[in-house]
Amino acid sequence: MMTALGLVFKGKTIYEGDDKDKAMNQDAVFIKCTGCGTNNRIPKTRLKEHPKCGKCGGTIEPETTIIPCAGCGTKNRIFKALLDDDPRCGKCHEPLKTIPFYNYVVETTDRTFNEEVLTFPGTVLLEFYSNSCPHCHTLTPILNQMASDYAGQAKITKLNIERSPMTASRYDVMSTPTIIFFKEGKEVNKLLGAVPREEIETRLKYLL
Ligand SMILES: [Zn+2]
Ligand SMILES: [Zn+2]
Repeated sequence: MMTALGLVFKGKTIYEGDDKDKAMNQDAVFIKCTGCGTNNRIPKTRLKEHPKCGKCGGTIEPETTIIPCAGCGTKNRIFKALLDDDPRCGKCHEPLKTIPFYNYVVETTDRTFNEEVLTFPGTVLLEFYSNSCPHCHTLTPILNQMASDYAGQAKITKLNIERSPMTASRYDVMSTPTIIFFKEGKEVNKLLGAVPREEIETRLKYLL
């Protein structure tokens, strides 16, 4: 295993085993260690090298996402940090078509619904919620995590039915939470209630 990695000590970045200045100037990303919570600065070129946390020494696993190649169908595992760098298919080298990247739940309203959901070029999960609904609160951490897990594959959004009643009425939302899946602007699936993550995920994966 490679150990020549950027290490962060009290905010100062020290690079070992490589040209220090070169490494400092490379594009890098910050990745939080799941063991101790320290933010580690990792040069993009070293994401593959199983970087170690500068504080606790634990291995940092940079987040990845799966992008299918439109040309040959190969499912490519891509580092999320590299999604903006025009990734190519590992097999046929065609550029991979990635959708706009969101790693957080996007709040949408009656006013922005068209642009955030209907004209989005890909799969959108939209949760209709209400602040007073306890079941909606149980979905919040699940959807936050899914927004991160599916970044670059699907967009996760939510809409407050009290603040945006027009859209809720247009989609016949009678109770919260209601999740509607959209593909290229078309409603393709609907889930009622605070369902477990597995069920949401099954429906989402079917659309990717
Ligand atoms: Zn750590
Ligand atoms: Zn390909």
